[in-house]
Amino acid sequence: MFIRNDPYPISPIENHRRREKGVLVYPVYSRRSGGLSVGINLFPGQKCCPFECPYCEVFPFAADVVFSCKQMEEDLRAAVAAAREQNVPVKDICFSGNGEPSLSPDFSAALKLADRIRREMVPAAELVLITNGAGLLQPGIFSLLRDAAGSFALNIWLKLDAATPQWYEKINRTAIPFEKLIAAIKEFAESAPVTIQTMLCTVDSKGPTDEEAQAWETLMLELAAAGNIRKVQMYGKARPAPEDPKTTALPIEYLEKRAESLRQALVAANIPVEVYP
Ligand code: SF4
Repeated sequence: MFIRNDPYPISPIENHRRREKGVLVYPVYSRRSGGLSVGINLFPGQKCCPFECPYCEVFPFAADVVFSCKQMEEDLRAAVAAAREQNVPVKDICFSGNGEPSLSPDFSAALKLADRIRREMVPAAELVLITNGAGLLQPGIFSLLRDAAGSFALNIWLKLDAATPQWYEKINRTAIPFEKLIAAIKEFAESAPVTIQTMLCTVDSKGPTDEEAQAWETLMLELAAAGNIRKVQMYGKARPAPEDPKTTALPIEYLEKRAESLRQALVAANIPVEVYP
């Protein structure tokens, strides 16, 4: 049963907390999108993710709401229409929300529907998926994403926080074997363009080791050489998380130093490296 807990959020929000109140669509000002991003949440009732990143911003919640494409269509059209009325350009329509979107049974249908509405109402907006890559281990989802990157021009923002099993264990806390996930990411990046996103923060007061930093840069170079990376986005902890203070922000100088090192290493490949402290 769908129950609205509050009026539909036509006004863009400054953070993602409204996702925890059972909404399917949530406009938000996004640093990484550079403007208004209309988020789609496939898990309005509860968080659903095979990762347990300690910096995760989803606070515990349970809502008596079930995702439906019909409701999503209505809410997405309303959000885009409201943005147009206010002359606010929609930068993207983005699958994100309380978990890993590609693992939702509704993902395929919702993706096609969102693309149809995007083309009809805001063709200049991008279609984006924020993913932790877990779906790439399933051949059906791997193919779906590869094909969508081609036919829908789906822009895939792929989380890649760690390049060593030790840091992966701390920063992503998942049962998915590190080597399997990295292999799937490498294979995927050979067949479809991706934007890599990496969170840089401390866990239990310690940041990534020098060994981790070096391994990550080497991995980026491997991916750039073998595939088609659109850009690399390195971002810091900027929002509250339920596990605070288990993770904390690192100094901006650290992020800039890591980014500059990668820029130098990637100079021939002409891949943008952006920092969002
Ligand atoms: S992958 Fe995303 S949703 Fe899942 S635990 Fe990590 S930050 Fe949270």
